[in-house]
Amino acid sequence: MGDGSDAARGGAGERSSALLARAKKRIPGGVNSPVRAFGAVGGEPPFIASGEGVRIRDADGHTYIDYIGSWGPLLFGHAAPFVLDAVREALVHGTSFGAPTEREVDLAEAICAAVPSVEAVRLVCSGTEATMTALRLARAFTERDGVIKFEGCYHGHADSFLVKAGSGAATFGVPTSPGVPADLARLTLNARFNDLDSVKALLDAGAAGEGPAVAAVIVEPVAGNMGAVPPADGFLAGLRELTEKAGALLIFDEVMTGFRLARGGAQERFGISPDLTTMGKVVGGGFPLAAVGGRDDVMRRLAPEGPVYQAGTLSGNPLAVAAGLAVLREIERRGPALFDQLETRSQRLADGLRAAVSESGVPANVSQLGSMVTVFFNPEPVTDWDGADRCDREAFGRFHAGMLKRGVMLPPAQFEAWFVSAEHGEAEIDETIAAAKATLAEMAAG
Ligand SMILES: *Cc1c(COP(=O)(O)O)cnc(C)c1O
Repeated sequence: MGDGSDAARGGAGERSSALLARAKKRIPGGVNSPVRAFGAVGGEPPFIASGEGVRIRDADGHTYIDYIGSWGPLLFGHAAPFVLDAVREALVHGTSFGAPTEREVDLAEAICAAVPSVEAVRLVCSGTEATMTALRLARAFTERDGVIKFEGCYHGHADSFLVKAGSGAATFGVPTSPGVPADLARLTLNARFNDLDSVKALLDAGAAGEGPAVAAVIVEPVAGNMGAVPPADGFLAGLRELTEKAGALLIFDEVMTGFRLARGGAQERFGISPDLTTMGKVVGGGFPLAAVGGRDDVMRRLAPEGPVYQAGTLSGNPLAVAAGLAVLREIERRGPALFDQLETRSQRLADGLRAAVSESGVPANVSQLGSMVTVFFNPEPVTDWDGADRCDREAFGRFHAGMLKRGVMLPPAQFEAWFVSAEHGEAEIDETIAAAKATLAEMAAG
């Protein structure tokens, strides 16, 4: 691919614009997932034609250093040769059987070997399915209906998770989307990320019969869907303790962090064992594959061994499994050095961005943990959704456009993590920092 030195870059060119116009006629918003539409940053999304390693090329021939990484899956960059080989090899034997295959067992074993709290696992097709199944299992296991989640965390688009806190002193949740029944939403309680007291209050209310009895607490152990927000010291350990005491299950939603922050995910990094874990993104190697796993006694409740129903026509799809298995084996082969490299490169990026921010005087701060990075346009460090919500979204929009113009593709929303891959070398990181310096200087000049 080219070196990205196109003369006129910056958002959609003619061909992308024409494609978007066509798309809008037949696909709501022209996209198959809302954030892709650039609604949060303005402008039109370039249509992507191809990707290789760290770079993507759009339909107009512009190339970009990519930090979207398909929103998390591409730990080894675009079109990783070992993934393509594994998929090609599987492809010629048939694309789907709806019957068990050997590689599904290999992948289940590889997941359990990497994540010790996962004693048994079921493969599904999306993170949404994984969290939906985890919640159903937790409800069945505890014979309770309530669930506690955290404001600013995202767990896919199942009805039970599209819920925000009710106003005032109300404990009950209310839908964030039309179509989610209020009767279901009231079972979802919202606590504040990094605030154990807010969790304890909801658990206590449930125990006292003043709110729904709580089946599970679900959390992104490192939040990524309000931008990258690490857990405060003791937060995850506190959740472990509180849920154990309350007889509720602890679900780590590691759809983003699994196989990204460590081979064993955030739970390895922070040394906490949840009861259930959801995984997706990296584990699918860029294919529609996700997983729910955890304690053996809980997982055995799943059909056909137990009564909790869950199924999927394309679950454990041979191509997706081949890709996922190739990625997990590559992670194992490279060992801890892989995650050291990701950390070092991401720190280099974060340090460079911090210097660029302070040089420019633009009010912003940089958050980074492992290969997750966010520039928050808020001068204060962000520790929860209230902090994230105080960000200057308009400033982010200008930053995003400036970076795009300079050949850097960031997630098109303030509240997203940028993903550094194993393919992001020092040269690309430094090119990104230079683009940020120029963009921030332009913003500071007005
Ligand atoms: C992406 C994501 C999901 C949803 O996964 P999909 O595959 O998009 O359904 C759930 N939880 C977290 C933490 C995620 O980052």
